[in-house]
Amino acid sequence: MNARTPLLPLTGGCCCGAIRYQIDSFPLLLYTCNCSDCQTASGSAFALNMPVATTQFRIVKGEPKGWRRPSPSGADVTSWFCGDCGGRIYGERKGRSESVNIRAGTLDDTAWLTPVAHMFMRSAQPWVQPAAGAVCYETGPGDFRPLAAAWRAMWPEGFPQK
Ligand SMILES: [Zn+2]
Ligand SMILES: [Zn+2]
Repeated sequence: MNARTPLLPLTGGCCCGAIRYQIDSFPLLLYTCNCSDCQTASGSAFALNMPVATTQFRIVKGEPKGWRRPSPSGADVTSWFCGDCGGRIYGERKGRSESVNIRAGTLDDTAWLTPVAHMFMRSAQPWVQPAAGAVCYETGPGDFRPLAAAWRAMWPEGFPQK
């Protein structure tokens, strides 16, 4: 069973409250990444990533700072974080301007977050257990479309049929 479908807009921000954001439509996906970069960046066992459409995401308070580095695949990734408390809020990848990747733990309401996939399980901590029904990848998927479809099927109220 799913948790209840969250109400839109989704809101969130950093720990200290200097940065606040709003998301106006349902996220495109939710997955964990267990790669060593995500473990280092999060200081934890994995990152909980939630891509949302760029046009549906906006900062409503404060101005995040950006930090840029090349990803393992070579594309520039900019991490946006709070300059006061250092909390990472989202990432942006060059060449993928249609979505931003929110760190889902920064949402005000995290009770409904169930990942649909787990990436880079080859470097996951040995005690990490996949969510029920989630797809596990040794690295990443070549194609995100089947995952996006599985995600939409999980949240029929988030993606009403026209
Ligand atoms: Zn902050
Ligand atoms: Zn990663």
